[in-house]
Amino acid sequence: MRRYLFTPGPVELSKKVKEATKGQMISHRSREFSSLMSGLQLKLRKLLNVQEPVLLFPGSGTSALEALLVNLISRGDKVLSFSCGHFGERFREIASRIGAVVLSFDKPYGEVFTKEEVVGAVNLYSDASAILITHNETSTGAANPIEEIIEGLPADGPLVLVDAVSSIGAMPCYPEKWGVDGLATCSQKGLMAPPGIGIVWLSRRAWEKVRQNKTCPSYSMDFLLMRKYLEKELPQTPVTPPVSLFFALDASLEEVEEEGGFLRRFEERKAYAQSLCKAVEDLGLELLVKNKPSRSCGVTAIRIPGKAESVRKGLLEKGIEVAGGQGALRNEIIRVGHYTREGLSELWDFIQALEETCKELGVAVDKMSFGKIEELYTGRCR
Ligand code: PLP
Repeated sequence: MRRYLFTPGPVELSKKVKEATKGQMISHRSREFSSLMSGLQLKLRKLLNVQEPVLLFPGSGTSALEALLVNLISRGDKVLSFSCGHFGERFREIASRIGAVVLSFDKPYGEVFTKEEVVGAVNLYSDASAILITHNETSTGAANPIEEIIEGLPADGPLVLVDAVSSIGAMPCYPEKWGVDGLATCSQKGLMAPPGIGIVWLSRRAWEKVRQNKTCPSYSMDFLLMRKYLEKELPQTPVTPPVSLFFALDASLEEVEEEGGFLRRFEERKAYAQSLCKAVEDLGLELLVKNKPSRSCGVTAIRIPGKAESVRKGLLEKGIEVAGGQGALRNEIIRVGHYTREGLSELWDFIQALEETCKELGVAVDKMSFGKIEELYTGRCR
């Protein structure tokens, strides 16, 4: 039986990326490693369209969020947290654990923040040190309009810290241009590499703050130390990095270039998401995110109240692994990651299996036809 990994990360790896992980180990103090580091810098700065360095260190997406906060937030700092799902709540909890005074703003699951809502809150609490917001809320499949929101914020306002764990590589995100101050992501979602690398980018303003804070309480996540090693004649990392994963990430970024670059990749992801949403609605099922422009390019949440877990298990028996709902959305939704390598054919396999599983479990669905999907599908996926 063919197996499909449709969870919103980790994602299926290409042959090239898998091969890249298999090489002999090299020293992280060697010239070869430095040149790998330099290549990764160039590729990641190009993807984000930034001048300031991109930091890579051992860890997951959560580690990257934690690293951002531990370097930029001190005990007693006022932080405004804008959450529309499970990962927004996690970002907020990390800030609380560091000792920040967190003021929470929440949207119902499936919705996103408007510029007016965020700007209104920031104007009310002008003494806040930072705002926390998620770009792509993976627990609901909704993407906050980060660029639009920041447009309304004062340039000298609180630092804007963005969880971009599931958006980078799957949808446009240009932190320097948009006015983000701190961005956290990782290797295993839109960047299509194995898990294990935390990735962070900071604005000049945020670097100033890091310098003012002087001593970071974490040694392995100390951004000033990472930058010092990165800026050596032969770029390095302060602690032993996951070398094989660095090779894998480099291969994955190279592959995107070979396949036409990230702009094309973003278009593909969008087309794939739109086709999937349309196909699901044509089956008569409901999407969690009602507002079309807020729908994520990386993950789609399908409402199957009370039967979502049975459907998820039924799909798994057919070799298709999707994620379930988290927290209050448990057994309410299934979440389908579409960081796919194959595009249309995989989409069709998923929809057919979903239709079949729903019928087996007595969930009412309409008949879907392949012609209908093809008609909807406008992207150029492989
Ligand atoms: N933030 C978002 C938006 C995520 O999607 C995830 C993981 O799915 C995380 C944070 C946590 O990442 P990790 O599980 O790699 O620590």
